[in-house]
Amino acid sequence: MEFVKRKFIKIIGISIISTILLPFTILKASTKKIINPNLSKKQKNIMFKEGTERPFSSKLLNEKRRGFYHCANCGAKLFASTSKFDSGTGWPSFTEALPGAFKTKTDYSFGMKRIEYHCATCGAHHGHVFDDGPTESRKRFCSNGLCLIFKPE
Ligand SMILES: [Zn+2]
Repeated sequence: MEFVKRKFIKIIGISIISTILLPFTILKASTKKIINPNLSKKQKNIMFKEGTERPFSSKLLNEKRRGFYHCANCGAKLFASTSKFDSGTGWPSFTEALPGAFKTKTDYSFGMKRIEYHCATCGAHHGHVFDDGPTESRKRFCSNGLCLIFKPE
């Protein structure tokens, strides 16, 4: 009986905590916002509805100059050109992101478990990161080129 009572208190406790935290969860979701008013429909679809651009459609695929890749929405610096490599997948790929550039989330859509990454500054979705990269870190950031703006050095 004592055990049941304790379990009941625990459940009540969890629901109270979730109720208290709910506004914060909503607040967190609303940090995802459109900063650049000139984003195209395609860009918005990727960045805010977690869409994906067509493979081999990005003009950044053949970009080989030195410089940095910035968020198309907020302008945050995300990748250095030195981490870019040709993965053959048809999406601009990077072995690592700049420190603190992204936050990640596990994505279970399409029956797959993937790690989604989004801009730490504006929350916009950029792509998925996989563990089959060519360097020691094994990371492969599979990016949507439409979310990136390249600025040569
Ligand atoms: Zn951003």
